[in-house]
Amino acid sequence: MTEPSPGKSKRPRPLVVDVHVPAESHSYPVLIGRGTIARLGTELLQRLGHTGTVALVSDTTVAPLHASNVSANLTAQGFTVVPIVIPAGEAFKTTGTLLEVIGAMIMSGMGRRDAVVALGGGVVGDLSGLAAALFMRGVPVVQCPTTLLAQVDASVGGKVAVDVPAGKNMLGAFHFPLFVLIDPELLATLGDRELTQGLAEMLKHALLFSPDHLAALLAAAPAIHARNFDVITPLVATSVGLKAACVGRDPWETGEAGKGRVLLNLGHTLGHAIEAASGYEVAHGEAVALGLRAAARISELKGLAEPGLEALVVDALTRLRLPTGLDEWLVGERGAAVERALLIDKKRSAGTVSYVGLAGVGEPSVLSLAMRDLIGLLRQRVGAE
Ligand code: NAD
Repeated sequence: MTEPSPGKSKRPRPLVVDVHVPAESHSYPVLIGRGTIARLGTELLQRLGHTGTVALVSDTTVAPLHASNVSANLTAQGFTVVPIVIPAGEAFKTTGTLLEVIGAMIMSGMGRRDAVVALGGGVVGDLSGLAAALFMRGVPVVQCPTTLLAQVDASVGGKVAVDVPAGKNMLGAFHFPLFVLIDPELLATLGDRELTQGLAEMLKHALLFSPDHLAALLAAAPAIHARNFDVITPLVATSVGLKAACVGRDPWETGEAGKGRVLLNLGHTLGHAIEAASGYEVAHGEAVALGLRAAARISELKGLAEPGLEALVVDALTRLRLPTGLDEWLVGERGAAVERALLIDKKRSAGTVSYVGLAGVGEPSVLSLAMRDLIGLLRQRVGAE
């Protein structure tokens, strides 16, 4: 992490996490700090090199809470702001909404020198990032994530997408941001359940890459839930740094199994299946929490990890107020639905997948596993709690 050049603001300077990808033109900084949203206009002017029109994309929940401040901040630096508000929620991360956003950008007379600012959770970030990638073959996007999940995960890495009926995130691109600006104070308005979703991804980063981050996260759990931003901010920065290092090793997700972005799937294979089997009643982070427990169990049963890893993950989930009830998704009707969701992709059911396990905390390892065996293995321990 490096310090940015001195600014005029009296607020603490943001931490800067540099995300490096091999092509220099794709390298971008992630600015993290309390109150950093007040720097958006000056940072954009400096990094874009000129004023112009900004499509400020947010959703129906975030816009009334935060868009007017952000808009005023951009206007003060000479930008013309075109507010674009999409309906909140994953159900609207669709091609229909995408085309509406691009249509609004066209109607506003935007051109190639203009930019998009994504102010919202992962849905807004993914959708407006894709709109920016497609509009006139690509204009710059600035990610200003407003959920913990988007701050530690979705806003970093350059993946942008919308969902199609055949699957989540199936229509997308890599579109690296001009910069990412993370202000943890924006989380003050976020609901408790949404905050906890982000903790699942932070736990994932810690389990994959850093025993120190795990210890810090667990020690800070009460302060995080109390929205102590002095505690939250450095933890967000560490999580971003861990994800940034991983995506920097494999920016285009082409790395060999075990070395690159595939590791970030820890907890997601089963997590996605539980999410789908629940009809999306179980939220993404909650499903990932159960998936992390599953990954620890599989790692133990496969002899990759020493006994005790699953218990460690259960303790961490409990302290972070994430769910631990994996077994109820392995048996009965729910178990059958999870199994169907795991096998829904024919390619998957026929062959093996790269399943991310752990030899220990900070020691990820990729197992080649047949989907059919996964649920069978997990069931070996049902009732052993
Ligand atoms: P989300 O964007 O739907 O936000 C969750 C809810 O919180 C929404 O209702 C939103 O309006 C509300 N909200 C957002 N910020 C708020 C704030 N500050 N105060 C009050 N309410 C606020 O969901 P999410 O959990 O942020 O992101 C999930 C999405 O991210 C999924 O679509 C997923 O596919 C995507 N994702 C992308 C990547 C990536 O690498 N691109 C990584 C992980 C997840």
